[in-house]
Amino acid sequence: MTRLPFVEEEQSLVPIWDSDREFLMHLKTAEAWNCMNARASSEGINLRIVSAFRSVAQQEGIIERKRRKGLSDADIFRVNAPAGFSEHHSGRAIDITTDGYLPLEEEFEDSKAFHWLNENAKVFGFALSYPRNNQFGIAYEPWHWLYKEK
Ligand SMILES: [Zn+2]
Repeated sequence: MTRLPFVEEEQSLVPIWDSDREFLMHLKTAEAWNCMNARASSEGINLRIVSAFRSVAQQEGIIERKRRKGLSDADIFRVNAPAGFSEHHSGRAIDITTDGYLPLEEEFEDSKAFHWLNENAKVFGFALSYPRNNQFGIAYEPWHWLYKEK
């Protein structure tokens, strides 16, 4: 498994509200998300944010809580990046779900929202980071989309 390090974004984070929760994103990612979400809504597609920016310290907390629950490092790092190695540190990655689906589950790929994203996300600068059988050996994550500056 090869994960790349990501620098924690500090300068250009802006708040985005979704489902009464505040998320932080890099400014350009937030602009692109707002455009994409508005288009999706206008086409009857419901997109909801599960997670956006995450600090290195928050990532350490996630891993620590899983260790305390008794999960092995092998199990943890199959689905979580080590602290310092998550695309979420960059403020450019968004985990997306839609009404009627459990967040962060592979079944999201069966949703109308996922099909819409597959067709349209690239127009707004978003790409799936970890498709099935990806080169990084990281678990398939149909919910995890990264904004790549155009
Ligand atoms: Zn993610």
